[in-house]
Amino acid sequence: MKIAVLALQGDFAEHETFFRRLNCQTVQLRQASDLQQEFDAVVLPGGESTVQGKLLRELAMLEPLKKLISNGLPVMATCAGTILLANQILDDDTLHLGLLKCSVRRNAYGRQISSFYTAGSFGGMNNVPMSFIRAPQIEFCAPEVEVLAEYQGRITAVRQKNILAMTFHPELSSDARIAEFFLKMISEAK
Ligand code: GLN
Repeated sequence: MKIAVLALQGDFAEHETFFRRLNCQTVQLRQASDLQQEFDAVVLPGGESTVQGKLLRELAMLEPLKKLISNGLPVMATCAGTILLANQILDDDTLHLGLLKCSVRRNAYGRQISSFYTAGSFGGMNNVPMSFIRAPQIEFCAPEVEVLAEYQGRITAVRQKNILAMTFHPELSSDARIAEFFLKMISEAK
């Protein structure tokens, strides 16, 4: 399996390690021409969504990436990546990819608890590690979006067809179950 990781900013290296541990090959997406190679899926890492969105535009990667995902390419997004995918950002006027039918609020957990760790259920799996780092909140989702995880009543992971999006960082733990969940989504899409 070949996983392309958007490598403009943020914790893309951790995502590469996360998938390499499962014997996947990874490639970095740094410029528009990198999107022309063959790969099975794409990962949008955490980081700073405003910076990533700006770079995607400046590097002319936004539209080609949007097209690939619209055409069914499996995508896994964490944190800032989820903000890039949302079709409504409640506290920001600039939309980026806008393909996930969810509204998100940036930095929703406040300053004091802006980073924390918990473990919870995710799509029927129990005790899955979840690190929240200045995390956004998914506030509303369209009916076709499946909610996979919640933390204290707040939505933290969703799936919409080929899109898997989380507000936390699974790649910061050694638990491989979310990566395996995504690999299964990729196999089913083939
Ligand atoms: N707060 C960041 C943003 O708004 C997201 C943080 C993260 O990706 N860990 O983009």
